[in-house]
Amino acid sequence: MPRETILKQDATAATEEDRFLRPQRMTEIVGQRDVYARIEIAVDAARKRSEPLGHILFDGPPGLGKTTFATVIPRDLGVPLQIASGAALSAPKDLIPYLTNASEGSVLFIDEIHRLPKAVEEFLYPAMEDFRIDIALGEGVNARTINMPLKPFTLIGATTRTGLLSAPLRDRFHMREHLDFYALEELAEIVRRSATKLRVKISDDACTLIAGRSRSTPRIANNRLRWVRDYATSRADGEITRPVAEAALDMQGVDPLGLDAQDRKYLETLLRVFGGGPAGVEAVAHTMNTAVDTLSDELEPYLLRAELIVRTPRGRRLTDAGYRHLGTIPPKPEPDPQQELFE
Ligand code: ADP
Repeated sequence: MPRETILKQDATAATEEDRFLRPQRMTEIVGQRDVYARIEIAVDAARKRSEPLGHILFDGPPGLGKTTFATVIPRDLGVPLQIASGAALSAPKDLIPYLTNASEGSVLFIDEIHRLPKAVEEFLYPAMEDFRIDIALGEGVNARTINMPLKPFTLIGATTRTGLLSAPLRDRFHMREHLDFYALEELAEIVRRSATKLRVKISDDACTLIAGRSRSTPRIANNRLRWVRDYATSRADGEITRPVAEAALDMQGVDPLGLDAQDRKYLETLLRVFGGGPAGVEAVAHTMNTAVDTLSDELEPYLLRAELIVRTPRGRRLTDAGYRHLGTIPPKPEPDPQQELFE
């Protein structure tokens, strides 16, 4: 795929407002304090030594700030940024323009890096390690490889699943940072800052309410805020108070835990079709007519974190809290057959 197309796709993937709400500088990043502190040191050291920053891999569920870190780092360093997506780089030749365009110290951000095909991944190894690419020319007896030097650059990778990354690729990153879900106060702060950027008046308790119903994820908090703002404009005087926020989120089907209709459909499918589980994620996805990746990358991380489901060797199972959230009584624990054997 031509490079221009990829860049355009990336640009349109994020809505205007999404980019507008995204922190522009390291100092605007809320939460993720441990990750922040380590990145700050690496960036500071790279700047002091006038050397390129080492390669960094970010992993964690969607919407927690991987792209945000990847975009503020080059801005703070004052170096150019190129953005590519693992899914769009289907052959080594797709990667060549990015690598040859990379100026000294610049950043190449590859989102969804776990989706790089093996051949592209292997092509990346010498680029990451020795700032060199090996290009194969010709075929059969005439085949030869030419080495092409690159300018020292920084690769920043993002993935929702480190487990899918091969060990050789993972090990070539100098820093690996895991982004975790946000605390309530951090999310409330993000909502407050976003409201200021959107020029909407909001009360503190409304910030907390929206934060508490955002699945501990900044992207969802911002999306919920946008809806509440529309609701406040249309149904109230434009100001977001707690009752306005509550009515807006209720109308959208966001429950007090912050789950939306799709999250509840997952839990209900597990309950009604699979008797509470255990059920394989493929079977659940099939029944819901949804992609397996959507369930395992987008829905499950928060449901696991909220302890509404658990992963067992035999599949996903509702927890007691999961049953209660659906308004049903958890079943009595089954007698352990192992235990009975010894009785
Ligand atoms: P990811 O790449 O992990 O899917 P993003 O970096 O695109 O997530 O984050 C989604 C949105 O959430 C961003 O546009 C930004 O507005 C907001 N956001 C994410 N992390 C933070 C943060 N630490 N502080 C403030 N806003 C954040």
